[in-house]
Amino acid sequence: MTVLKIKETDCQDCYKCVRFCPVKAIKIKDGHASIIGERCLGDGGCVEICPQKAKEVRQDWPVVKDWLEKGEEIIVSLAPSYLVAYRNKSPQNLVNTLYSLGFKKVEETAIWADYVARAHQELLTMDEKNKNILREKGIFRVKKPVITSSCPGVVKLIDYYYPHLKEHLAPVLSPMMAHGKYLKEQAPERKVVFVGPCAAKKEEATRAGYIDAVLTFTEIQELIKSEGNEVEVKQDITPELATEKGAFFPASGGFYKTAGLKVTEIDNKFLTVTGIEKLQELFSSFEKVQNLELIEAMACEGGCLAGAFFPDSASLWERRQKLLERIEQQERKKIVGEQNLEQNVKLTFMNLNLDNKTNDPEEPDEEDIKKILAKTGKYTEQDELNCGACGYNTCREKARAVYYGWAELEMCLPYMRQRAESLANKFLESVPNGVVVIDSTFTIQEVNPTILEMFNREGVNLIGKTLDELLTDISHFAEVMETQIQKEGKIKHGDRVFEELIFPIEDEDLIVGIFSDITEMEKQRKDLKDLKQETLLNARKVIDKQMRVAQEIAGLLGETTAETKVTLSRLIDIISGEEEKNDG
Ligand code: SF4
Ligand code: SF4
Repeated sequence: MTVLKIKETDCQDCYKCVRFCPVKAIKIKDGHASIIGERCLGDGGCVEICPQKAKEVRQDWPVVKDWLEKGEEIIVSLAPSYLVAYRNKSPQNLVNTLYSLGFKKVEETAIWADYVARAHQELLTMDEKNKNILREKGIFRVKKPVITSSCPGVVKLIDYYYPHLKEHLAPVLSPMMAHGKYLKEQAPERKVVFVGPCAAKKEEATRAGYIDAVLTFTEIQELIKSEGNEVEVKQDITPELATEKGAFFPASGGFYKTAGLKVTEIDNKFLTVTGIEKLQELFSSFEKVQNLELIEAMACEGGCLAGAFFPDSASLWERRQKLLERIEQQERKKIVGEQNLEQNVKLTFMNLNLDNKTNDPEEPDEEDIKKILAKTGKYTEQDELNCGACGYNTCREKARAVYYGWAELEMCLPYMRQRAESLANKFLESVPNGVVVIDSTFTIQEVNPTILEMFNREGVNLIGKTLDELLTDISHFAEVMETQIQKEGKIKHGDRVFEELIFPIEDEDLIVGIFSDITEMEKQRKDLKDLKQETLLNARKVIDKQMRVAQEIAGLLGETTAETKVTLSRLIDIISGEEEKNDG
């Protein structure tokens, strides 16, 4: 299941999302992209990068609006990054807006970040009491280094792609889920809506019934727009604030701050890794980092402050800076209170109910890969260009995707170009006409063997040379270049005659000349003409002679032959006139 979808008709087959997606959760079929739901981490990072805006995240605000209109009791769990959700609006302004939209109560999710961080710490020094709590929840083993489990992108990454690392994943709910669980335990009938910068939370919410809907900050904008862009602020209620430590949770390194752990940049016990590619690198060589205790892992590079669904375009660093400033400006508790501490930490321990899906279907073997590579003209290692134009990092990675039906052979651009070139070459080599293509500087871009033979330049490489190296008279080409209008005509070269057709290719700044050898045709026409003229001459002689005889006979008979002569002469004139017309 994924919360993302692609409007197929808007997809223009550019492979930008294939290139961008670190887990290659995009399938290209019939030239259109779609999301492979089970592979997608749901972070929505690819939504923004699509130049056609063909991707969209499931919008849940209309459902929430409906609940509001029906007067449902809805509690908002507001992600800690709300402190920097807007560049120019105070966090309190967002809280007030939410109250004014009709939400019953707005609470900071960060309150639960404190308990979640504490739960992770307890996993490191697991005492008998905690072991029993976990056993009750069906968890029998947690391996070090423990990987934090608050980011749904990381949980999905391990669940699907690195299932052998599941025992390292902390069996602890994320602050959102823990908060939702707590609120539902208080009053199961109320609705809980999480508001934050992350689309992957929508998928996480479906793992248990603690959260009824997840809205991104950009969806809150849509909700406000649906109210006519003006929400009259009716209340000014400050939510209960988490500790100042909990408020750091959305920044990379924030987990350690929340947990009160002093972690240096180069630390032999604790590590922070953010960004899917870096996590893939870490998880692929995990056995090499076994001496670590805990790894703070976040799918977005820089942490939740780099989430994909903030309404403004502030940089990660700007948000980080602002987060520090805004936390400083608020009066927050230094540490979490002891009241209910144990109980709340216990609430966060949870078997994460991972999908336990097998990951990708069976791997293709070397023979399968070789066959696919061969279909795109890759027979040796040198043929594998690994240029990345198809969106995959290597030709083999792409061949594997073709094997699974996620990619198409035609996505290999060098292969397609080669194929187009070889088709064009075959065509040029086999046509009986001479073809030359020049650019606007009269430089020859293409010639075929026929034209080289026509103009006695066989075996000479004229590509890149100027047209006058092929033709003595290039004035017709110059004329077409000037007027951009097609021209037809005849030219002579030695004892050969060619018919020419010269035309421009629009938008390409190219002129094409096609030449047909009509020498033989011309010769036949001339022979025919000569034959006709000779026949006419002979006919005239015969008529003259016959007329003389006829006149003599007519003189004896007293009759005239003038009429016969006029008729026969007219016949000759008509025939010779037709000839001239044909000669043009
Ligand atoms: S949301 Fe993330 S994982 Fe899913 S397709 Fe986009 S980039 Fe890939
Ligand atoms: S050569 Fe083709 S298959 Fe290989 S990486 Fe480049 S585009 Fe992809």
